[in-house]
Amino acid sequence: MPAELNHLEYYRLPWNYTDNGISWLEPTTLCNLRCKGCYRDPNGHGHKTLEEVRSDLEVFRKSRKSDCMSIAGGDPLVYPHIVELVKMVKEMGWKPIVNTNGVALTKSMLRELKKAGVFGFTFHIDTSQTRPDVAATTETELNEVRHHYADMVARAGDIACSFNATISGNTLSEIPHMVRWAQEHANIVHTMVFILYRSPNLTGEFDFYAAGRKIDPAALYHEAEWGGAKTLMAKDAVEMIRKGDPLYEPAAYLNGTARPDSLKWLLANRIIFNGEVMGYMSPRLMELIQTFSHLFTGTYLSYAGPKSAACGKLASLAGGLMDKKMRRVLANVLKQVRSRPATLFKPAHLQSLMIIQPVNFEPDGRQDMCDGCPDITVHEGKLVWSCRLEEMNRYGVFLQTVSKEDKSLLPPA
Ligand code: SF4
Repeated sequence: MPAELNHLEYYRLPWNYTDNGISWLEPTTLCNLRCKGCYRDPNGHGHKTLEEVRSDLEVFRKSRKSDCMSIAGGDPLVYPHIVELVKMVKEMGWKPIVNTNGVALTKSMLRELKKAGVFGFTFHIDTSQTRPDVAATTETELNEVRHHYADMVARAGDIACSFNATISGNTLSEIPHMVRWAQEHANIVHTMVFILYRSPNLTGEFDFYAAGRKIDPAALYHEAEWGGAKTLMAKDAVEMIRKGDPLYEPAAYLNGTARPDSLKWLLANRIIFNGEVMGYMSPRLMELIQTFSHLFTGTYLSYAGPKSAACGKLASLAGGLMDKKMRRVLANVLKQVRSRPATLFKPAHLQSLMIIQPVNFEPDGRQDMCDGCPDITVHEGKLVWSCRLEEMNRYGVFLQTVSKEDKSLLPPA
């Protein structure tokens, strides 16, 4: 039975179209892997020139504030100017986050990227990929590969390390193993993101139209057996996270554009001390952090660096001064210190667990997007959803969907 969650109990992240935690830059469509749930056409435009990328960044600068700039693709590490690009993003005022599968990452490249100002990496690792020289066939076995990258980044020093995994109906049951693995490595793993595989039955119930003309969505959205038969919702992932960590409790969310109670982005932050979970950040503390960040830096916080992530005790103490939920976390930390006094000066780590539930369809055909989408990118000078960029590339418009049952909703030709 999927977990019941009431969005109104959590803090609605204040992220919106023009003032957000994140923006999304794509310097290339090329990649060295083929992930089954990939949103991007591998035969797309290829590498952009640095000047083209700079002009995309100028579009962001004129129209949207954000704390971080996710540099994605394609895989940004196959982009020949990645080091210059990271430097450019940093100089223009964003924290550069490299979203990569990690395959092309070498120690020397990591050193160069650090010198250029990289703030963090988000490694996309899951069983939808066939990685060279990796025999792992389950998400649980892939924890070893995740550990390799977390360790590599930790050795480089002072770089945030996150992991994305696309989750399908076939891999959902492995979430608890990933949650426990992340807990064991909270000192070097700062964020785990579970992205639910997008709509495996796209063509089942809806017809697709581009500017009034019926089209075949299979040309854009290839269904893969890997995705499983069921459309996963955030509540399914919550249920599995709770199997890995019974204390799990979200703090903040982004709702859907069609449904107020959709949990499109669901964010939880746990405090881990001596390998044990002390509890979860409360919605009030999350609100305080976002508000302070905006007041003092001008942007809402999305990624914290390793030094901030090691301030779990301070967060418990500050939160405990104003909030009952955080006092329980603080009490657990103090209990730990009493039972193991030698760990008094050992840090407690903050670790984020995020669920992303991409576009899904309402029975009347409306597409429920993330309200205040953080992964907005630039297409021909305009801001568009990155998850639906291929619709713009191929048809010049976003597709409309119509229920096969209800033709009265057909768009005018
Ligand atoms: S609307 Fe699409 S691009 Fe934006 S955050 Fe949601 S899934 Fe990502």
